[in-house]
Amino acid sequence: MTGASFGFARTLAGYHREVTTTPAAASGHAIRTLQQRKLQLIRQHRAEQQRLVRELQAGLAQIDQLMAEAADGSLALPCLVSPATSPGTAVYHSKDQPCGWVWIHGLDAFEECPEHDALQRHLTRCTACDWKTAATTYAHNNAQGS
Ligand SMILES: [Zn+2]
Repeated sequence: MTGASFGFARTLAGYHREVTTTPAAASGHAIRTLQQRKLQLIRQHRAEQQRLVRELQAGLAQIDQLMAEAADGSLALPCLVSPATSPGTAVYHSKDQPCGWVWIHGLDAFEECPEHDALQRHLTRCTACDWKTAATTYAHNNAQGS
């Protein structure tokens, strides 16, 4: 390549750059790149936030589960027993989450006692009552009181 043609090519390249990469085009490209970077940061932040929220929810759910288990094992859940039942053959019901049997007979038909006392009477848990929810409710009410 001669010096003249090299100079010409350089001139052409400069012209080409000037045409395709005007200051406005260059700044437009820079702005689009920065906007994309901004969107990327927002997306990353949102994904991280969602991950943290999921992590928090999982941690809280696990603690709720442990609280319910502790309440369930405390033998302190409020129960309903029927004074008419004979020991060994009857069940006790949850006061907080009773089954339909309790609703049919009405709360007045039952005595309230902690689960420990119901077990002392050789009664067994009613399988129709929602003990899981009752334990969760009891755990939350107890936690607020202490
Ligand atoms: Zn029941």
